[in-house]
Amino acid sequence: MAAPNIETIVSLSKRRGFVYPSSDIYGGLGSAWDYGPMGIELYNNVKQAWWRWMVYERDDIEGLDSSIILNRLVWKHSGHEDTFNDWLADCRKCQSRVRADHHFVRVSQTDEGRPVFMTTDVKCPSCGASDWTAPRAFNTMLKTRLGAAAEEDPNALVYLRPETAQGIFINFLNVLTTSRRKLPFGIAQMGKSFRNEVTPGNFIFRTREFEQMEMEYFVRPGDDERAHQEWIDACHQWFTTLGVSADNLRLYEQPKEELAHYAKRTVDIQYRFFPEREDREKQWDELMGIANRTDFDLRTHSKKPEDAEGKRLNPDSTEDLSYFDEATKERFYPYVIEPAAGVNRTVLALLMDAYSEKINDKGEKRVILKLHPSMAPIKAAILPLAKNKPEIVGMARAIKRSLQPVLRAVYDDTGGIGKLYARQDEIGTPFCVTVDHQSLEDEAVTVRDRDTWEQERVKVAELPEHLQKRLAS
Ligand code: ATP
Repeated sequence: MAAPNIETIVSLSKRRGFVYPSSDIYGGLGSAWDYGPMGIELYNNVKQAWWRWMVYERDDIEGLDSSIILNRLVWKHSGHEDTFNDWLADCRKCQSRVRADHHFVRVSQTDEGRPVFMTTDVKCPSCGASDWTAPRAFNTMLKTRLGAAAEEDPNALVYLRPETAQGIFINFLNVLTTSRRKLPFGIAQMGKSFRNEVTPGNFIFRTREFEQMEMEYFVRPGDDERAHQEWIDACHQWFTTLGVSADNLRLYEQPKEELAHYAKRTVDIQYRFFPEREDREKQWDELMGIANRTDFDLRTHSKKPEDAEGKRLNPDSTEDLSYFDEATKERFYPYVIEPAAGVNRTVLALLMDAYSEKINDKGEKRVILKLHPSMAPIKAAILPLAKNKPEIVGMARAIKRSLQPVLRAVYDDTGGIGKLYARQDEIGTPFCVTVDHQSLEDEAVTVRDRDTWEQERVKVAELPEHLQKRLAS
């Protein structure tokens, strides 16, 4: 079957309660989406899997939850106030606006990180002309104000964070001291970030409010390249453990002209989000970025760090974020390896990857969401074959209650069995458990597999263990 496009997923999402357009009853809000009963389960499964993998299954990573709104000086010294820009250009003929880094080739960048684009002969997607204004910067940090200060009071201005990473850097010393860590070690954080994207769109792929899963891994300079490669391999592998097909993932090495000014090397893990695009290169886009950020961040947030060129001196910070190595008696700024992924884009990749269609024996098309069982919003649906038979209904409800402490189960009697199966297939439920007349006699139920539609008879007493085993395998 051909890969689904995003429109197919948008329609499934709305129909089955994964994702709804936000503020819909008031006409919506450009590119804002709300996660429904199924969506939030999938969303939370992604986050829990990431946290388990990053924090619980390793010995060298601590967790953190920093504020969304930070002191404005954080964004001044991190460089975001000056450089967190999208570059825009307008067509002089029809006035349509494009994002320069999506539409033109970036040929180089200045020392300050200002990109230089090649615009000659690039056609306007709306009118075909090739007459562009010079690309200009638009800072994408979302602004707000704290307290009752007047609208125009510049001191009241704060930003909603555009990434979670800076909250980690400013807590580097706190975590280092309280957890008595030694290099190498990492700090992981998940949370909302905000970017005033100029061209949001493609469903939950690019929104102005989104959630990130970021980890900053601090290493001794010199150990950075090896650690970077290890994280690239580990992250790629992680997506496959969530059930994403390796064929739809690829590594993209950012060329020098694309690198952020602080980065030594960045590799993106891309997913084939746009399989319908003719240009094969444009079928792929970023799911996760893994950057070697050098010692830029800890240095830039440090109280007057030494810098041979006199740049990046920080008179505002009260701390030096350098590290003292007891063994070698050296003091230095650790290098940072950053795997940064979006929760929303991961959810989208999982939905696209799991989407499949199958024709049943009546010749009808059925949608099956072949999510990895660990990602499925519901693990088992308990369905009574006859809803007017109180004994069957009672038994089905009791089975649901016995399962709910160990796995997410639902009870459903709102349709004929064919319709109930179809509904569960569409939301990716790995198992349907049917209670029928015979169950009352033999204390057994039918367990139906989502992917094969095969059925087997299982004793009620053995059901929790049976399902848990199959979910884990
Ligand atoms: P892009 O090039 O697509 O704008 P980026 O390189 O700016 O992304 P990063 O700053 O590396 O993104 O952020 C890390 C991750 O956060 C991305 O890989 C992506 O999964 C997610 N992300 C970034 N911006 C958005 C957004 N506007 N909407 C949804 N997810 C986002």
